[in-house]
Amino acid sequence: MAEKYDLVVIGGGNGGYIPAIRASQLGMSVAIIEKREGGHLGGTCLNLGCIPTKALLHTALLMHEANTGEDFGVNVSGVELDYPQAAKRREQVVTQLRRGVQGLMKKNKITVYNGVGSFVEPKKIKVTNDDGEEELEAENVLISTGSAVNTLPGLEFDGEKVISSDDIVTNNESYAKSIIILGSGAVGVEFASMYNDFGTEVTIVEILDRIVPLEDPDISKQLQKEFEGRGINVMTGTKADLESLEKTDSGVKIKIAGADAGEKEDTEGEGGSYGGEDPPTGDANGGDTLEAEVLLVAVGRKTVTEDLNLDVTSVELGDRNIIQVDEYGQTAEDGVYAAGDVTGGYWLAHEAGHEGIIAVEHMAGENPLPRDPSLVPRVTFCRPEVASFGLTKAQAEEEGYEVKESNFPFRAIGKALIEGEPNGFFKIVADADTDLILGMHAIGPKVTDLIAEGVFAKLVEGTPREIGMSIHAHPSLAEVVAESAMAVDGRAIHF
Ligand SMILES: Cc1cc2nc3c(=O)[nH]c(=O)nc-3n(C[C@H](O)[C@H](O)[C@H](O)COP(=O)(O)OP(=O)(O)OC[C@H]3O[C@@H](n4cnc5c(N)ncnc54)[C@H](O)[C@@H]3O)c2cc1C
Repeated sequence: MAEKYDLVVIGGGNGGYIPAIRASQLGMSVAIIEKREGGHLGGTCLNLGCIPTKALLHTALLMHEANTGEDFGVNVSGVELDYPQAAKRREQVVTQLRRGVQGLMKKNKITVYNGVGSFVEPKKIKVTNDDGEEELEAENVLISTGSAVNTLPGLEFDGEKVISSDDIVTNNESYAKSIIILGSGAVGVEFASMYNDFGTEVTIVEILDRIVPLEDPDISKQLQKEFEGRGINVMTGTKADLESLEKTDSGVKIKIAGADAGEKEDTEGEGGSYGGEDPPTGDANGGDTLEAEVLLVAVGRKTVTEDLNLDVTSVELGDRNIIQVDEYGQTAEDGVYAAGDVTGGYWLAHEAGHEGIIAVEHMAGENPLPRDPSLVPRVTFCRPEVASFGLTKAQAEEEGYEVKESNFPFRAIGKALIEGEPNGFFKIVADADTDLILGMHAIGPKVTDLIAEGVFAKLVEGTPREIGMSIHAHPSLAEVVAESAMAVDGRAIHF
């Protein structure tokens, strides 16, 4: 007889295991199905994304700090990257967190099935693995099957010369000494920053006329300036000729040329962080040729829906096979919800978990607040970091707001100078009529942490004036948020 659950979750990433825990807290009996070898939960984020990349980026940061220690009176000689050790530490962090998630499943009495989940009927799910098949009955289903690396015709991954982010974070032995990175969204610029700190020769090829093209244009400008100052070759408005790719004994060769005007069009605010970039491709006959050890294709991700057998349900797929949901994550099939990358949006781990929680709370009749994309912090962990949420000034004006905007520089913040990170700024966009916050856009030290204050202020309908009134410790980087908030009304003190 089929086991029965109040909730069956298909996919054990952040969009799956986090809501599974919330559902258990709400008294539901919960099963989660994960196809990854070993049944490891945590999805892309824990196994191939956020965690392993940030572990490597931390090694890169330490390299940078060791190399600049002299300025602070710390002389470090013979700085060298021991890549196998960096990879070992990366794996240790991942393993420890995997164990933690496993423990949370046990603690919350969630049954984990290792296998591929697919629909037999809308409320009947089959788990398939090497041992055979098993059917589960579900009162509710949450689809959180996430996303996978994507490439372009002619650039098939071979794991050695034409590589994906998965290949980098599973390589335990060595790192490339020269790399061409196709695409300058979050994945592209994080690896550019990391490899540059490792001492690798880095070229970024981006068809649009600016890097991190989904961010405020001033952020793109600042990041490009900083990258170029570090010796990264940034080629914007440039397209790669996919058909020209040639694999040589030492690596790859690919032709590039200037993009046409239409191809360079700005995409400010469209799509999302780790998955939504537009591919930098096109016909580049007659252009220059780039050569490197490897080509990293970082042109966005694709949703994973192929194993689900959605045809037996009324679940609808939109463009790029994105599952269509309402603001509570409900699909067109009664009792079937979806959350995370598979539903599009910003393709971020914290958004996936948050969406999943909304979905299970809605199932349980808890009346959660609906999804609000304007409250999703978008974070990129290159050096310097980038973080934002909500509307840019231009977007807000386009929506008809009368806008006031501040732009406070880190060089006027004592702690930023102490830490040797004076570059960058923190912008706040507010509605001139109501004083309400519309967005924040920052580049500089620890902005991926600092942005949380802004998101909270927007959630509780706080105003820049109120942020300015709350006392920020001195000296701290957080002072940039308070100063920027006061600058919205011309009241900043230190600039
Ligand atoms: C290189 C990189 C770096 C990133 N860094 C960050 C970051 O710093 N911060 C951030 O917020 N986001 C980051 N992301 C994005 C983040 O990883 C994703 O947004 C997040 O993992 C999405 O969670 P999810 O649960 O929707 O999907 P996933 O994490 O993709 O999880 C889906 C799970 O479902 C399983 N699955 C799929 N189909 C089935 C099936 N039929 N049956 C059973 N199991 C199935 C998969 O094996 C997978 O484990 C990064 C992504 C990449 C690629």
